[in-house]
Amino acid sequence: MLVVMKALATPEQIHAVCEYIEQLGFRAHPLPGAQRTAIGITGNKGEVERGNLEDLSGVAEVIRVSKAYKLASRDVKEEDTVIHFPGTDASIGGRDLAIVAGPCSIENRDQAFEIAELVAAAGAQFFRGGAYKPRTSPYAFQGLGLEALRIMGEIRERYGLRIVTEAIDNESLELVAEWADVIQIGARNMQNFSLLKKAGKLRKPVLLKRGLSATLEEFLMSAEYIMSEGNYQVILCERGVRTFADHTRNTLDLSIVPAVQRVSHLPILVDPSHGTGKRDSVLPMGRAAVATGCDGILVEVHNHPEKALSDGPQSIYPDQFVRMMDELEQIAPVVARRLPRGIHVPAAAD
Ligand code: PEP
Ligand code: MN
Repeated sequence: MLVVMKALATPEQIHAVCEYIEQLGFRAHPLPGAQRTAIGITGNKGEVERGNLEDLSGVAEVIRVSKAYKLASRDVKEEDTVIHFPGTDASIGGRDLAIVAGPCSIENRDQAFEIAELVAAAGAQFFRGGAYKPRTSPYAFQGLGLEALRIMGEIRERYGLRIVTEAIDNESLELVAEWADVIQIGARNMQNFSLLKKAGKLRKPVLLKRGLSATLEEFLMSAEYIMSEGNYQVILCERGVRTFADHTRNTLDLSIVPAVQRVSHLPILVDPSHGTGKRDSVLPMGRAAVATGCDGILVEVHNHPEKALSDGPQSIYPDQFVRMMDELEQIAPVVARRLPRGIHVPAAAD
């Protein structure tokens, strides 16, 4: 159920409607839009009695949302969600493309700093690096944990880059929330509902990667789990799905970008690194991704990929990243986008 407020509804009227909803034992989610505020109602088992709601002052109409996902849906919020990063000019979901670049894993301080310096110089605004790695083999490198978070904290200070890193369980979630600007929830955890709910209680952007075989609806329902707890800053990320094709690690499903944009206001990034698993495919698929009109790219870059402790074969060399930025900059205007170069953080130390 969705309560659409009148364009001129006052904050007091919006507050009163939210209180009324909460008194009924439901949860109210006020979502301000450019024209008017809509208030999503969740927690109801059946239909909410609309009569009383429609009589409250400031209410324009009460609409039934038929889709399984509600807060993630354009029915509830028509205009695109734009996530801003306070104190910087970086955003995800607006006209500017978001470029998230860095190694799969933080391996040591020197490796991380060298790559951060290169991607910052090429104009990325976000730095990625795994501290907690969900590895297929228990014998594979599992990440440096807190040490990696501290290294990324230093990188943030030094270059102004905003940090994106993955939380794999409730314990790492708390630490990641403390150190990162964006909490990544990986493909393998897309349906870890207790982790999603916990991330929903935080007030930090969450980058949710598509599950290995998730449908569009399953993907959006996972976003809904986070949003239903009151965290509306969700960024979706297509990273390829399992198919019969064996020329790539996964099949990058670029067709999900327009499909998401049709039904959801949430931003969507594309990860051509995990989506292909092959270094030589990363740049072509990155170009194609931007051409679909997605909101940005997440890409693995390594200074010595042949020695990388994880995902070396899909990590691009720094000079390939420079080329990628140049090409994406040229494609961006064709789809009414812009590629910002570098992040401006007035308070950051140089
Ligand atoms: C990653 O980004 O390094 C990662 C593990 O991604 P995914 O969850 O998409 O496999
Ligand atoms: Mn990886």
